[in-house]
Amino acid sequence: KYSEQSFNSQIEAVAICRTPYKQKFGIPRQPGLVNVRGWVELAPHVNNIDAVRGIEQYSHLWLLFCFHENLAQGWKNTVRPPRLGGNEKLGVFATRSTFRPNGIGQSVVKLHNVVQRNGKVCLEISGMDLLDGTPIIDIKPYIPFSDAIDNASGGIAQSAPQLIDVQFSQLAESQLAEYSSENKVADLKQVVNDVLAQDPRPAYKKAKADAKIYQVALYDIDIFWHLNNDKIEVIEIKPTS
Ligand code: SAM
Repeated sequence: KYSEQSFNSQIEAVAICRTPYKQKFGIPRQPGLVNVRGWVELAPHVNNIDAVRGIEQYSHLWLLFCFHENLAQGWKNTVRPPRLGGNEKLGVFATRSTFRPNGIGQSVVKLHNVVQRNGKVCLEISGMDLLDGTPIIDIKPYIPFSDAIDNASGGIAQSAPQLIDVQFSQLAESQLAEYSSENKVADLKQVVNDVLAQDPRPAYKKAKADAKIYQVALYDIDIFWHLNNDKIEVIEIKPTS
């Protein structure tokens, strides 16, 4: 305990984030990169429409959350950011690493709607970079005049990652169309395209020939893909078993 500044606070999740991202691999590395819808479902102890009164005036929200899937792995003073090819080390507080002393992440997301579903107050959002089931520990409005800083320096992350072209086999194309209409997921092909265009592979894989078949889980389907002439090709999709 850091006694001079210790505080007695039991942090309890105020919401759970529901997203199509069913595993960490493939989730965009920052918010705002892929236009996918998700939900923030208020937890029972704050599940009151009054708790979000006025929130619809804001176009964007800050979500503070816990990297709950990585807590057990602990943290180190230095990390190897994927952007640097995994070769160089930076201090944990100089990065957005998911392995942190308190395991807290923060993301700006777009707010679309406030609704009540099955007795739960839900915020419909998009652009999140969160795993399905992520505990949200606070929700705050994004305030452009203060939060958006012109000419800020982005360190090792000056601009969005470069995108890679994505192609679809005929089989994948027809499977996606079928799944879209059966499950009423609009724009599924576009979502798959935009997720894979981020090139989820670790940096060291990108540097050399790569014959591996990868799998990304979105909604309740597994998407199988590989590298084909420096482009990503979606081979087929299967229902998640
Ligand atoms: N925007 C946030 C931030 O800067 O604090 C998160 C950035 S972090 C690099 C984004 C990655 O966190 C995603 O690509 C995903 O792999 C991982 N992630 C998302 N939700 C998670 C969770 N609940 N537990 C562990 N890792 C998670």
